[in-house]
Amino acid sequence: MFRNALTVDVEDWYHICGVDRIQPIPRNSWRVCRATERILSLLGESGVKATFFVLGSVAKEEPELVKMIAAGGHEIASHGWSHTLIHQLTPDQFRDELARTEEIILAQSGHLPIGFRAPQWSVSERTPWVHEILAERDYCYDSSLSPLPFVGDRRGSRVPFRFVAAGRNMWEIPPLVTPTCFGNLPTGGGWGFRFFPLTLVAHTLERLNAAGNPGVLYLHPRDVDPDGPRLSLPPIKRFAAYGTRNDAVPRVRSLFERFRFTTLKELVANDLLHTDPII
Ligand SMILES: [Zn+2]
Repeated sequence: MFRNALTVDVEDWYHICGVDRIQPIPRNSWRVCRATERILSLLGESGVKATFFVLGSVAKEEPELVKMIAAGGHEIASHGWSHTLIHQLTPDQFRDELARTEEIILAQSGHLPIGFRAPQWSVSERTPWVHEILAERDYCYDSSLSPLPFVGDRRGSRVPFRFVAAGRNMWEIPPLVTPTCFGNLPTGGGWGFRFFPLTLVAHTLERLNAAGNPGVLYLHPRDVDPDGPRLSLPPIKRFAAYGTRNDAVPRVRSLFERFRFTTLKELVANDLLHTDPII
């Protein structure tokens, strides 16, 4: 059976891009560890390995988190340090974010990350230096380009593709989307995964797999923590973050029963990615 990938962006309930937090978030309201434990127990009961894109600043504040994830045999990758949109960073600031996150992941898991995902798919033509910098630092793949309107590039590839940066072969691995006459729908994670019928997600996975391509789902710890706290947000952001808020666990469990999942590292290492872009 064809393999897909489940990915988790490891950040707390208040890591929502573009929102200025005036007050610091009190430590007793942090929920990332408990919510991540819930994801880990779901993976454990299903025998599935996943890729966790860890935010370096969260790993520093919660030093048991990376160890807990690594102990389950899952892949630890990088989500940067501060959750700043990449186009708001200079190349040097981006290098610094990567270096700090690599250092803490290495110290806590014993391995350097080989994969990167930007906050809110913020790699685009505005950041042409990103792939060169990742290649220079020995990353093997990026998972930051989303073929979506508004937060990504609607003309982008819906399936993984190979590219060369700084003389190195790398993979770009986009998240699952469902193509429609209205454009691509974000069925692979976030509000779209919780909102659209599960049959639509499953049908999209079936079609991708039939064409020899994996589907990549993405979760946040807050997606499995429906009673968690909420930030006060402008209407569109409020809808995306909370508008369809419900528990993602039953949906993920149901997909685990029907499809096979593994880590992005495994897909890359075992040549399980197709090379022809489908746009
Ligand atoms: Zn994020």
